[in-house]
Amino acid sequence: MHIIRTHNVTKCFQGKEVVSNVNINVKKGEIYGLLGPNGSGKTTLMKMLTNLIKPTAGEIEIFGQRLTPSSSFAVLGRIGSMIEFPIFYEKFTAKENLELHCEYMGYHNKKAINEVLEMVHLINIVNKPVENFSLGMKQRLGIARAIITRPELLILDEPINGLDPVGIREIRNLFKLLAKEYNITMIISSHILAEMEQMADTVGVINKGKLIEEVSMEAMRERNAEYIELITPDITSACFVLEHRLYLQNFKVVDQKIIRIFDQNVSQKEISKTLILNDIEMESMSKKVTSLEEYFMGLVEKENQNQVVKHE
Ligand code: ADP
Repeated sequence: MHIIRTHNVTKCFQGKEVVSNVNINVKKGEIYGLLGPNGSGKTTLMKMLTNLIKPTAGEIEIFGQRLTPSSSFAVLGRIGSMIEFPIFYEKFTAKENLELHCEYMGYHNKKAINEVLEMVHLINIVNKPVENFSLGMKQRLGIARAIITRPELLILDEPINGLDPVGIREIRNLFKLLAKEYNITMIISSHILAEMEQMADTVGVINKGKLIEEVSMEAMRERNAEYIELITPDITSACFVLEHRLYLQNFKVVDQKIIRIFDQNVSQKEISKTLILNDIEMESMSKKVTSLEEYFMGLVEKENQNQVVKHE
């Protein structure tokens, strides 16, 4: 079941398209990572999901219902969000800010405030006015505010911005807990791949307003298995030997001289022995792993090149 689906959602500002025909599919209970460089349209997309701005074209479906200005009130009550930098009443304490938010949301559960402040590790500074908070502390309070009403869906824009490495780990664990224990669906944006890699179940890659890939992390990891890279001037014969002497099935010629062997049950020693026995010259052989970084950078670069070509 999908909690969010968008259908060709597009947003233009002053005639310039900053989100173009985006179709995302966020499944119930998952952490969906929206990954893209700065300026790629992540915030704009999230603003449309929370009805802060209206799409120029396309449709948004949340909890199976079309999001419209009139239908949105009930839907938005089931969503917690933090879009761009969180704004608070600066003279008020963390606790007072959360009380006001609960009041506004019609959520009356006195225990929730302490619980949530504990969850984001702000329990010790409940009486300090927010104006004295660091960026990271405000970010934590923003997250606390987004989750306090136990929403079914959380929409968080770059929530780990401004946190130190320990803070990042704590918040990441909190998100995982919310997904697992409370079955909260989450869409989280980031420009940092490593972050997404550690918590997302599905990643949507966005570049220049276009969704260029939507893939499960599991499928991604499988794609990024280890391989043996073989460099040989005699590529045709080498392929013949791999296929008919070593009975390998999963290898790929990536260049005039380079073969990547993904079969896992063959050793480098076995390959080199067989190639030598068959008189095939070899320049080198080594074990490699394609990192996710490489893969995503490749996607973004390919997309950029396509756009250049289109404009020519
Ligand atoms: P991201 O969140 O990925 O950094 P944004 O959604 O903030 O990207 O921005 C995408 C593009 O849209 C940027 O080029 C930005 O300058 C532009 N943009 C965002 N908001 C507005 C606005 N209100 N008016 C004009 N341009 C905007």
